[in-house]
Amino acid sequence: MRNMLPPVKKDRIIAQLPQCFTPNAALHTKESFHTQVTSACHGQKTGPVGFNIAKVIVVGDVAVGKTCLISRFCKDMFDKNYKATIGVDFEMERFEVLGVPFSLQLWDTAGQERFKCIASTYYRGAQAIIVVFDLSSVGSLIHARQWLEDAMKENDPSSVLLFLVGTKKDLSSPDQLEYMEQEAIRLSEEIKAEYWAVSAKSGDGVKDFFFRVASLTFEANVLAELERSGCRQIGDIIRITDSTEEQHKPTKKKANCC
Ligand code: GDP
Ligand code: MG
Repeated sequence: MRNMLPPVKKDRIIAQLPQCFTPNAALHTKESFHTQVTSACHGQKTGPVGFNIAKVIVVGDVAVGKTCLISRFCKDMFDKNYKATIGVDFEMERFEVLGVPFSLQLWDTAGQERFKCIASTYYRGAQAIIVVFDLSSVGSLIHARQWLEDAMKENDPSSVLLFLVGTKKDLSSPDQLEYMEQEAIRLSEEIKAEYWAVSAKSGDGVKDFFFRVASLTFEANVLAELERSGCRQIGDIIRITDSTEEQHKPTKKKANCC
């Protein structure tokens, strides 16, 4: 099935860890991928893998620019009338990270955020949460904390990566931008999120931001997979098994306790 997919677009190939936006509010400031991740990927034989898709949810006040942010990255367009398609929950964006196919499922809301009636299925099982605010609206930054709290109710804080993204950078004056960035960096430190400022209109920072999201979620997924498979040492190569192969393994009989 995987072989029937077209190859990943050349501009979606990630060979190096993309750098953070500012070291003052970064999830980490390491220059390269974790050595365990690099060696696992170099050693891996192709096969179905557990870490090849990550669910990413995008939340924030209505009109902060969530849909434009996604469509700038996925379709490379800025259409102020673009609406999330009702009935389609997410955009799938394919990458190749360290030679391994990897996809981001980017979940956008279809206007429900106006009424704060987001279904729990939207939030559930996210590997990354992108909280969006408008750099020209102080209120939207204040509300970011509440959006995060709502999203976290359905997720495990120890396994989810947080990003705080200020949009519409093109609209802000340098003074306004400086003030908003200070506040956003303060909030990022508090909630342990990585901060980015972007513009969907000009495209500034959008690709770099999503490459960072893809790379950090990929890295976290591979590390979790290594942890599960018990390969803790550097240089270990995980043998990635087909889930059907796992199912057919003879299971050890549990000893009766009494
Ligand atoms: P959503 O409700 O959060 O999905 O917001 P939208 O993506 O629909 O955007 C709301 C409005 O903000 C639209 O009129 C967009 O044209 C505008 N907008 C979004 N991103 C930007 C941006 O980066 N710069 C500017 N100038 N306007 C933007
Ligand atoms: Mg929208």
